[in-house]
Amino acid sequence: MNPKWDLSEVLDEEQDVDTNPVEFDVPASRSYDWEKRATEIKERDNYVCQRCGNHNGNYENYPLTMEAHHLVPGKYLSKPDARVELNLIAVCESCHGYLEGSHIEWQLNEIGRDDALQILSVLKERSLSPYLLSQKLETSEDCVRSLVSQLERMNCVTAQGGGRYRTVCPATAKSTADRVRLRWKQEQAVRRSLEETLSEFRQTLTTGLDELESTLEAGDRDQVEATLERLQNTIRTTNFEEDITLNDR
Ligand SMILES: [Zn+2]
Repeated sequence: MNPKWDLSEVLDEEQDVDTNPVEFDVPASRSYDWEKRATEIKERDNYVCQRCGNHNGNYENYPLTMEAHHLVPGKYLSKPDARVELNLIAVCESCHGYLEGSHIEWQLNEIGRDDALQILSVLKERSLSPYLLSQKLETSEDCVRSLVSQLERMNCVTAQGGGRYRTVCPATAKSTADRVRLRWKQEQAVRRSLEETLSEFRQTLTTGLDELESTLEAGDRDQVEATLERLQNTIRTTNFEEDITLNDR
């Protein structure tokens, strides 16, 4: 399992987890917290369009509408993944329309994110670890790690084992949201199985205690000992440990 993948981020209490284990970052779900995130991004980018460089200062009489844009659309990603730093940029209204729905590499090129673009280009040819990638690109390993980690959350690269990554297309790759949904289903199955075990355990204990009570009243020592042994056996052998090594890839 991807160690950065924290299910609790997605399965927060406000959600109806029985029907919707994944909250995508789609317009319908963008309320107050989206406005807050969008403002953070616009402030980070100083209200300058990351594609054309226009900003409000250029248009005193006709202020530009600045917007926050998802490079990889929120419909492909869970909400926390859709909102990582790399995936969001401030853009003017017209550039927003221009970038929307375009290929990730084309967009990265348009906004001058050569660092992320180079990583995707190299990992398209061969899978590499962040360390080897940083050697090849002659950049800091920390920077590469941070970008690869975000690109993974954006579903643009995928882990290959051995700490290596490879470029994938976010629109067609099995999305992080799909993985969460799968994991959620598996956890539900484990939960149901544990509930069954617990219910049987409770039933056996209740019946045994009733028996114990009546045999004690009857003063049948052998019967009391037999019932006690059976109860001890149940307690010893009931297994509440389920295999929760889930395969999420
Ligand atoms: Zn623009």
